[in-house]
Amino acid sequence: MKRRLPRVYNRKMIRAIKEFDLINPGDRILIGFSGGKDSALLLYGLAILREHGIIHADLEALTIDLGFMRPLDPEPLAKFCAGLGIKFNYLKKNIASVVQNEDNPCARCAHFRRGVMNNFAKEKGFQKVALAHHHDDAVETFLMSIIYSGQIKTFLPKTYLERSGLTVIRPLVYLREEEVLKAQEFYDYTPAPKVCPYDGNSYRQKTKELIRELTGDRRWVYANLAAAMREGRPSELWPPEKTGLKVGSKDETPV
Ligand code: SF4
Repeated sequence: MKRRLPRVYNRKMIRAIKEFDLINPGDRILIGFSGGKDSALLLYGLAILREHGIIHADLEALTIDLGFMRPLDPEPLAKFCAGLGIKFNYLKKNIASVVQNEDNPCARCAHFRRGVMNNFAKEKGFQKVALAHHHDDAVETFLMSIIYSGQIKTFLPKTYLERSGLTVIRPLVYLREEEVLKAQEFYDYTPAPKVCPYDGNSYRQKTKELIRELTGDRRWVYANLAAAMREGRPSELWPPEKTGLKVGSKDETPV
């Protein structure tokens, strides 16, 4: 069956690849494949770009079973990768037992998953790790970071990791989540059911809902948040605190 995606998808991926210099000829790239819709599109999109000679890279996928109660069935994932001509790798880990009862299980889970992925990539001689974060993920991370950790930051389209020598790339950063959802009609694969009990109950989910509520039909709210995460935007911040006592902290004396 001929693989295809509407032109807008290819344009947005190529824009990210060119603008952030994500992929160079001869790169060996390990793609994080959770089995969900985001990483399925990343695999599919990169396979199409490779087929059309737009990128020249060796692509492999890695799925990490995190060890939740409902195990992940790797069969359909392996079949999807085989159809795209991408080697499928699969690791079983017990990250679930480490993160349960944590205050913020997702942050710990992401940390461990990154470790497993990067170690595997390094051992097998990959230069790059591709992750399927899209534009909504970046905006949510930006707001989530302000609300839950008091820092103005989000992930970058491309990050060089000094310690491992790997480069993390995110070719879907210009795609909106609604486009990622719609893309499912173009490939022959049903995203794996969610197996994590924290899914839909995370800080990210709360932030997603907040953005949705604030945006409604005012799409400029989302656009303003996205604009604010770019370098060079006007910004006026207070000077650093001198006393160490944070307003709103539990140590603050009530008036
Ligand atoms: S929702 Fe579950 S799988 Fe996803 S980051 Fe959180 S703990 Fe990990």
